[in-house]
Amino acid sequence: MKNFLKNFLIFFTVFLIIAAFFSFYGVSEKKVDEVGLEKLINQIENEEVSAIIIEGDLLKVTLKDNTNEVIKKEPGESFSQLLNNFSIAKEKLVNINIKIKDDRGLNFWIKNVLPYLFPLLILGALIYFMMKSVQGANNKALMFGQSQAKEFGKDTKGKVTFKDVAGVKEAKEELKEVVEFLKQPKKFLELGARIPRGVLLLGSPGTGKTLLARAVAGEANVPFFHMSGSEFVEMFVGVGASRVRDLFKKAKKSAPCIVFVDEIDAVGRRRGAGLGGSHDEREQTLNQILVEMDGFDQNTNVIVLAATNRPDVLDPALLRPGRFDRQVILDDPDIADREAILKVHAREKPLAKDVSLRKIAERTPGFSGADLSNLLNEGAILAARQNKKIINIEDIFEAVEKVMIGPERKSRIITANEKKITAYHEAGHAIVAHFLPNTDPVHKVSIISRGQAGGYTLKLPTEDKHMHAKSEFIEELAVLVAGYITEKEIFGEVTTGATSDLRQATRLARKLITDFGMSNTLGPRTFGEKEEMIFLGREIHEQRDYSEKIAEQIDKEISVFIDQAVHQARGIVNNNKEILEKVVAALLEKETLEKEEFEKIVGQK
Ligand code: ADP
Ligand code: MG
Ligand code: ZN
Repeated sequence: MKNFLKNFLIFFTVFLIIAAFFSFYGVSEKKVDEVGLEKLINQIENEEVSAIIIEGDLLKVTLKDNTNEVIKKEPGESFSQLLNNFSIAKEKLVNINIKIKDDRGLNFWIKNVLPYLFPLLILGALIYFMMKSVQGANNKALMFGQSQAKEFGKDTKGKVTFKDVAGVKEAKEELKEVVEFLKQPKKFLELGARIPRGVLLLGSPGTGKTLLARAVAGEANVPFFHMSGSEFVEMFVGVGASRVRDLFKKAKKSAPCIVFVDEIDAVGRRRGAGLGGSHDEREQTLNQILVEMDGFDQNTNVIVLAATNRPDVLDPALLRPGRFDRQVILDDPDIADREAILKVHAREKPLAKDVSLRKIAERTPGFSGADLSNLLNEGAILAARQNKKIINIEDIFEAVEKVMIGPERKSRIITANEKKITAYHEAGHAIVAHFLPNTDPVHKVSIISRGQAGGYTLKLPTEDKHMHAKSEFIEELAVLVAGYITEKEIFGEVTTGATSDLRQATRLARKLITDFGMSNTLGPRTFGEKEEMIFLGREIHEQRDYSEKIAEQIDKEISVFIDQAVHQARGIVNNNKEILEKVVAALLEKETLEKEEFEKIVGQK
């Protein structure tokens, strides 16, 4: 459609130019006097004429006094005939310079042919474009079963290489091998080694699986066929399998190359376990992928990369040797990785000198690569909205909180009483977190409403942790209920402000018992088999593998844990009432306390 518009515009301008030319031509003709034939004859008789140029049916006459005139003669009648008809004496013509200009040149074309040809041309163009668009629609219908894979050629612009992927060192090491397979397959084949067919990238969302796959293609400099698992599945049965066949056919033609199936869990789910209509189609598609991967002969240098964040739901047949036998795990980034990722994304952003990427990395535990890239973007947007030319560290810290908790809602009107209650609630969280030995240090306390929260206390770990001890969880519970306890101790009753704290606490307590085996009475086992089902959307379904009696015990244990936490929190709040009042006063005055200001009141942790 865009093309059509462009072509149309070009035609239109050409048309305008020609029209302008015509009108100009017409004007230039009219500038000179038009006289009748009779007058010309008279002038010739009186020997006033010095030259005549004959141009088709036009006679351009120049008089002796240097004036010009134009006369139209009858078409088809020659000039000499005309002179004969008027029986002009020969001697009158001797002194006249008569020239005959050929009218078959450009002028003739423009005047006689173009006016007929032009509409024809336009009509032809119109028919051509109409045919073309109809054909396009036809082709689309016929190509339904073909793969929609996007192919990235060898030397496309915006090529991604390993340099653009920060962190994930082990995964990069493994994939360097794949690059070598693609570049020098001989080296491996001569030693009788079998080149791996499939490599499965595993990692949480946003850890850079898609990015890394593209980097492999960029490094190896081979064609790259990209297709998402969901693109195989359509409304119609059989389309997925046909697309798989087509994709692999194309790939084999352009070997060595990479076929990348993103989000493979969309088709690669365990077979025979689905509910709902689409699973037959999925199974066929998966079967076809398996068949195609088996069908490569030893020397076909096509490597299939696939990515998923749900390895647990994949069909075991996908994972056996000869298919996706290589599994590369992309870890969530640790603090050093986060700094490196920030560095990659800070390249084209003007950061102020005071921006320390390390500090940002410290504040963002649990952020994925995608989160970090988004974070810098948010920071840039915040800075731009203040018409700054560079991004300051405050913009980025503000963005961290915006991403973590939600945007600040300064305009939300709260009454003085609500503000007071929120101040006590948050001060309670902060103090309990501060005085317990195993909790993360408090980074910020605020009573400015953010997202859904009325206020918030930001705790951040000093280092990345992969394991957590029971004592940490118990203290975490105490911090969660601290807001509730403080409200109760000070005002004698609680508000709805503690709702989400309590829900979180209850969920955590249940997890300690059913998932982590941390209950004293129920012992080291898990309770409940969690299973994801696809039925009318996503649903986590828990299958109970314990009796009613155990269920009762779990409920009791949850209460024990919460009671313990309440007791601990209440002790700390009651023993530090003076400090609590000081923190509340500071909060009511400043609304937000940074780590340093908070520690000035409560002392070092
Ligand atoms: P996934 O496929 O694992 O869900 P993507 O590869 O699509 O994640 O990553 C999304 C974006 O996050 C990337 O385009 C990139 O900008 C950023 N990103 C993620 N991980 C990294 C990383 N390790 N290094 C640099 N950028 C990353
Ligand atoms: Mg992805
Ligand atoms: Zn709270």
